[in-house]
Amino acid sequence: MSVLNISDVSKVFAGGTVAVERFSLDVADGELVCLLGPSGSGKSTLLRMVGGFEQPSAGVITIDGEDITRLSPNKRPTGMVFQSHALWTHMNVFKNLAFGLKLRKLPVDEIRDKVEAVLELVGLAGYGDRLTHQLSGGQQQRVALARSLVLEPKILLLDEPFASLDQHLRERLREEVRDIQQRLKITTLFVTHGQDEALSMADRIVVMRDGRSEQVDRPDVVYRNPQTPFVAGFIGSMN
Ligand code: ADP
Ligand code: MG
Repeated sequence: MSVLNISDVSKVFAGGTVAVERFSLDVADGELVCLLGPSGSGKSTLLRMVGGFEQPSAGVITIDGEDITRLSPNKRPTGMVFQSHALWTHMNVFKNLAFGLKLRKLPVDEIRDKVEAVLELVGLAGYGDRLTHQLSGGQQQRVALARSLVLEPKILLLDEPFASLDQHLRERLREEVRDIQQRLKITTLFVTHGQDEALSMADRIVVMRDGRSEQVDRPDVVYRNPQTPFVAGFIGSMN
């Protein structure tokens, strides 16, 4: 069943840049869809519209059939992890995660239980009292992921979360995120410009160019029959 529906969505920025043009996509419950494309192809703008950080110029976005196109980010059942995660460096890990739950006025012991469970899930059990700037880049990115997950979003939105990390760590985190995503069965949109990342972790790939989707297929189909120079060139360079 489809959980997220993006229907004919466009975004024209002041000045006339068409960042996203008549984009449509249905995402099934528990599916991980990678939005793949070169820099400037509209991936972040699209993700930000799903998260409510940018308003579409046209089109409709629904989650579970409810029109959320004009809702503010905190009224949506979405959680977003940005490339620059912007953790609160003056707070420890626990407080970074507890913050959103406190706004929801949950009882203290429930907050503690939820934070501990999610730290365990991302492999950071026992790190609650560390300051985030004392952590490695990979650990900080795990905290950013945990900060979204602890609010139990229906849909997880990840914008190039590993872009600033080295190749080895990216590959490890990619597997960790995929594992967590499958355990939670959480519907996920994952933005990347890395063909290898999309091919190795997605249930489906949307290849974007100039704000439009050019191919929507399972990774094995995209691999065997790439319809875009962006992916065909990459596969050619591997062989
Ligand atoms: P991607 O994430 O695929 O690199 P973006 O969604 O960031 O692409 O950008 C798509 C296009 O929209 C680019 O041409 C970019 O310069 C433009 N753009 C993005 N954000 C803004 C903005 N706030 N104002 C004006 N133009 C923007
Ligand atoms: Mg981007």
